[in-house]
Amino acid sequence: MRIGFVGAGRMAQAIAKGFTSRGIIKSRNIWASDRAEKTLERISTELRINVTHDNREVVEHSDILVLSVKPQVMDTVLAELSDLTDPSKLVVSVAAGVTLDHLQSRLLPDSRVIRLMPNTPILANAGASVYCVGKATKPEDGPLIEALFKSVGTCDYLPENLMDAATGLSGSGPAFIFEAIDAMTSAGVQMGLPLSLAQRLVCQTVHGAGLLALQSGQSPAELRDAITSPGGTTIAGLSELEARGFRAALWQAVMTSAKRSAELG
Ligand code: NAD
Repeated sequence: MRIGFVGAGRMAQAIAKGFTSRGIIKSRNIWASDRAEKTLERISTELRINVTHDNREVVEHSDILVLSVKPQVMDTVLAELSDLTDPSKLVVSVAAGVTLDHLQSRLLPDSRVIRLMPNTPILANAGASVYCVGKATKPEDGPLIEALFKSVGTCDYLPENLMDAATGLSGSGPAFIFEAIDAMTSAGVQMGLPLSLAQRLVCQTVHGAGLLALQSGQSPAELRDAITSPGGTTIAGLSELEARGFRAALWQAVMTSAKRSAELG
């Protein structure tokens, strides 16, 4: 199987690295195009994949074509490639907000199109991806993409009307968690912990809490209550989060991110 990326930025690199490091797709079967010369030089050296300035060349070398440019650039790219994406190719857009109808209307009518929302923890084989399928896809197309992205994390089918919600939650979500990691690390440093140790303690805590929430069968509220003693240290910290609107801020961050995704479509 040959996979091509139009737009070789952070998301494309995360997916390419994830697939090659797991041995899912060989680097010689991966093509990527970009406008930025430096990006192409770097990924050619680091990932040993094939690179070109010519987006159309990538299409010719791909069975699966991933459109990984910013939503604002998508129409330019679609116009450039519209006559090339015949039904022999599977086209996967990872762009926030850009709908299947929009993609389909700018490609050949029978083009097989999938809309996917991955996230960068794919790099650590811990991605969370969701996808929906266009009307001209074959029955095996969705399962193929699902299997590929399950090899670097989780991948779930979603009806398209929930894709923006997932974009706010898992597409942008890593940034919200990085913000929390950074803030907690700073608190540790302020109290005298060495930076690298503080960061490692916080990252391991986030990792462990996530794993426990996934594996325990208990709700996050049950897990929180289980470590919150009356009058203890944890309730003292939780009351601070409550007073400063932590839950409301996170809740609204996800909703606003999802709204922005819908606006980009
Ligand atoms: P990025 O800016 O890192 O990468 C985009 C790349 O496209 C850049 O390298 C740019 O030079 C290139 N480009 C611009 N115009 C081009 C053109 N006409 N032809 C070819 N290449 C061109 O952005 P990113 O973070 O990788 O995001 C790419 C897409 O992935 C976006 O649509 C975004 O919504 C989606 N996405 C990103 C994330 C994330 O965490 N970064 C998560 C999920 C989805």
